Amino acid sequence: PEKTLAMIKPDAVQSNYTSMIRQIIVSEGFHILEEKLAHLDDVAAKSFYKEHAERSFFPSLIRFMTSGPVYAMILEREGAIKKWRTLMGPTDSNKARVQAPDSIRAKFGIDGEKNSVHGSDSTEAAIREIATFFRDFQES
Ligand code: ATP
Ligand code: MG
Repeated sequence: PEKTLAMIKPDAVQSNYTSMIRQIIVSEGFHILEEKLAHLDDVAAKSFYKEHAERSFFPSLIRFMTSGPVYAMILEREGAIKKWRTLMGPTDSNKARVQAPDSIRAKFGIDGEKNSVHGSDSTEAAIREIATFFRDFQES
């Protein structure tokens, strides 16, 4: 089955939502293959979000993502990449509360930046992002 990288962002870790979000993930049929608490430094955060380097929100995003620990997980299930992004909901938490009230961002996110979770958006991103957090992870 497909794998994706899920991350609980600093806002949600700080608010102690990690175990609730983890429980939702498991109840939705994802297997958590690896998980760890990590703290992104400036270089790691800029590399992780390098596709957004030219956007006006980038400096604020990097400050936010380095402001505290994140909780990274490798999720596995059929269609994991798309299923996890659907479960996360729209990027903007306030939009999520209108458009997808059962989504994780609707329940746990604050706004368009502090939106509680991240998910890889393609197979290539999943491979790259899994390697960012789990250097020693091997396909078995
Ligand atoms: P992620 O990549 O974190 O899973 P996403 O794919 O839904 O989220 P992207 O467009 O890739 O959204 O944006 C990456 C992150 O940058 C968002 O999750 C959010 O934290 C932040 N961000 C995106 N757009 C804005 C914005 N307009 N204002 C402030 N922050 C934003
Ligand atoms: Mg994205």
